Amino acid sequence: MTIVQEVKHDALQAAQQYVDDVYAAIVKRNPDEPEFHQAAKEIFTSLVPALAKHPEYMKNGILERIAEPERMITFRVSWVDDQGKVRVNRGYRVQFNSAIGPYKGGLRFHPSVNASVIKFLGFEQIFKNALTGQPIGGAKGGSDFDPKGKSEGEIMRFTQSFMTELCKYIGPDVDIPAGDIGVGAREIGYMFGQYKRIHGGFEAGVLTGKGLGYGGSLARKEATGYGLVYFVEEMLKAKGLGFAGSTVVVSGSGNVAIYAMEKASQLGAKVVACSDSNGYIYDPNGIDLDTVKRLKEVERQRIREYVNVHPHAEYHEGCFGIWSIPCDIALPCATQNEINDVSARALVANGVKAVGEGANMPSTLEAIDVFLNNDVLFAPAKAANAGGVAVSALEMAQNSMRLAWTFDEVDAKLKQIMTNIYRNSVDTAAAYGHPGNLVVGANIAGFIKVADAMVAQGVM
Ligand code: GLU
Repeated sequence: MTIVQEVKHDALQAAQQYVDDVYAAIVKRNPDEPEFHQAAKEIFTSLVPALAKHPEYMKNGILERIAEPERMITFRVSWVDDQGKVRVNRGYRVQFNSAIGPYKGGLRFHPSVNASVIKFLGFEQIFKNALTGQPIGGAKGGSDFDPKGKSEGEIMRFTQSFMTELCKYIGPDVDIPAGDIGVGAREIGYMFGQYKRIHGGFEAGVLTGKGLGYGGSLARKEATGYGLVYFVEEMLKAKGLGFAGSTVVVSGSGNVAIYAMEKASQLGAKVVACSDSNGYIYDPNGIDLDTVKRLKEVERQRIREYVNVHPHAEYHEGCFGIWSIPCDIALPCATQNEINDVSARALVANGVKAVGEGANMPSTLEAIDVFLNNDVLFAPAKAANAGGVAVSALEMAQNSMRLAWTFDEVDAKLKQIMTNIYRNSVDTAAAYGHPGNLVVGANIAGFIKVADAMVAQGVM
């Protein structure tokens, strides 16, 4: 080894030791939080080259601080169901990091929600939001409330009760929640109404994903799905590939999945499958998106109903089977850990060329290794699904200016943001010695922006 190589080797070893120590402390301090550990491990592992190059981050205790939420709120949400029975759920808001802007991130209503899930989502949001290039910090929230099978009245009463407590901790310059799984325009509308009623002013910028008639942004609904496809298209283009003529599998059938399918189809792809939490549909003719939109956005039905409209299509119970369908491009847009190493190997065996994560942390750590080790183009969630929160920040900007941009204006800005995130991730990966590895590139690029702001603002 030359002297330069030795110094580099020592710096990498010191950084690795620091990462291992902080990770062990996180596991100890946050027992029983496997999703949070997983998110921390993924990010920390890829930060080693950045810490070796910038030892000041270690001196400033950046990892210890960044992994500890600035504030974590849990609260009781009581409500009365249609039978007159009192029900109790738990509400959460983690305000993880405000180094570069007010707390920003969605709310998830799903029975799987717990402190671990909210913390993994909030932690990822710090880096995702930094990557957008906009001034937004990281947060997440939600409840273990299950919207499935609830009446309109129950949804409204629960959501109002949730906001009655949450409203004490948020504000247009403090913390700006939005949607996620189980929280769409309907729930945001009820929450906005309740916040306004309690606070007594029209503070449009306190929530994003609002209806278009009261401060919502055009293209916010489409933003996560469209942004995902814009990002993957950039990644494919660099290899002389594209969506045109490709076969695509999309998991999920919620907001992200629907608009990923729409944009992929517009670019000439054939989307042959999508799913919900019960099972998946396979339509060799290409999914009829109007039917999916009617079932999911209007009637709030299960995806299995699709085969009643299109009897030639197949419905299969269970969610992992979808990854055995041969495809060129896979877009997991359902939920965390929906692709394990077995599913990843099935995709690789069937010749998948690219995987773009629309959901948050849909691939396990083992699955990511399978993709990277088999030269599959891999677009990690933090970069690839940042379009949703990016357009949320554009909604905040429009609210501050008290004006509204056209669909095309917002869509063009979204496209530019996704291209910038892609370029930034590629360039950063190369600069830190991992060319082509967008996991490393996205994590380091997001981290450096936040870490520099934390160093500048002093120890707190
Ligand atoms: N829930 C989305 C996400 O995971 C959007 C958050 C937002 O718009 O604030 O990024």
